[in-house]
Amino acid sequence: MNILVTGGAGFIGSALCRYLTGNPADRVVNIDKLTYAGNLASLRQIENLPNYTFVRADIRDDRRVSEILRAEKIDTVMHLAAETHVDRSIDGPADFIETNIVGTFRLLCASLAYWRDLPPEMAERFRFHHVSTDEVFGDLDEEEARFTEDTPYVPSSPYSASKAASDHLVRAWHRTFGLPVVLSNCSNNYGPFHFPEKLIPLTILNALDEQPLRVYGAGKNIRDWLHVEDHVRALALIARNGVVGESYNVGGNAERSNIRVVETICDILDARKPRRNGGSYRSLITFVADRPGHDRRYAIDGSKLERELGWKARESFETGLARTVDWYLDNEWWWGPIREGHYAGERLGRLVAA
Ligand code: NAD
Repeated sequence: MNILVTGGAGFIGSALCRYLTGNPADRVVNIDKLTYAGNLASLRQIENLPNYTFVRADIRDDRRVSEILRAEKIDTVMHLAAETHVDRSIDGPADFIETNIVGTFRLLCASLAYWRDLPPEMAERFRFHHVSTDEVFGDLDEEEARFTEDTPYVPSSPYSASKAASDHLVRAWHRTFGLPVVLSNCSNNYGPFHFPEKLIPLTILNALDEQPLRVYGAGKNIRDWLHVEDHVRALALIARNGVVGESYNVGGNAERSNIRVVETICDILDARKPRRNGGSYRSLITFVADRPGHDRRYAIDGSKLERELGWKARESFETGLARTVDWYLDNEWWWGPIREGHYAGERLGRLVAA
């Protein structure tokens, strides 16, 4: 396959590029605008591979994207580029509208024009895989059944509303224009190379810095967690074998409250890197005023993907989390420059649980 990955310098996109380039028969072209969240250091281990190319480009630049699609003879678009942080979408939603909605629209236009010009056997093979989130479904009470592919969209934040809009556009381009699309909606990812504004890496690094571990509300909000390497295996499978026009939920079967996640990280760190004062990292936990519109619980029913495409998560949350803590302990070369504020306008210390 000749695969165009958008947003491949981000957390999940870089894991996807690392995974896909492991198959020498696949060629991967990564286009990324390199916003604050894009980091080419996450791609260091593959940057010189013959089946990998990086192009700095904005998905809203449809002329540029069209040129790349044609020049690289792309048969699969995997669309991950997005603004992704809920707190940022509350502080400043404009970029979320621009990239997640307008950007997806422009990418669809470029892909449709390209697909229509393909010879029939290549047009038959072509797929546009849109990567989305479970946050489009809104939230659940403790006892409510998990999200399925048929759950109605009720997004709460500017981020999830912009992702919901992009999902609708993708479905419309299939229904109205026939573009061969597949979609996936995944729960919260965690793992290596995760930008330290998100709950898990922020907690690890703030703990190591002896800073307060800020948790929204009482920390009772529940998220379903999936290791990023399990997610990218699912994405590759869906892009290859997913049924055109269908969407697939991807979940980790690992519902945990935010406070439990933070406490577990503290316990792992207590064992791996004890504090100099001998206390537990748990004493750094501080509860702060809740995020406006904070979703209570996300929970994904991923049984369709397991049943129809044979995917199963391999990593349990507890071992995956311990591996992730170890990765951060061993890879200061990656996160050190970010924490030192090499990214303009950051307020990492202030950010709290995602
Ligand atoms: P991320 O914020 O780490 O990375 C996003 C990437 O997109 C960055 O490299 C950034 O530079 C790039 N980008 C932003 N605007 C762009 C533009 N206009 N043109 C080109 N590139 C642009 O995000 P992530 O966590 O890796 O998420 C990737 C995708 O997966 C997103 O679409 C997100 O909605 C979805 N998703 C994420 C999660 C999660 O837990 N992180 C869960 C489910 C779905």
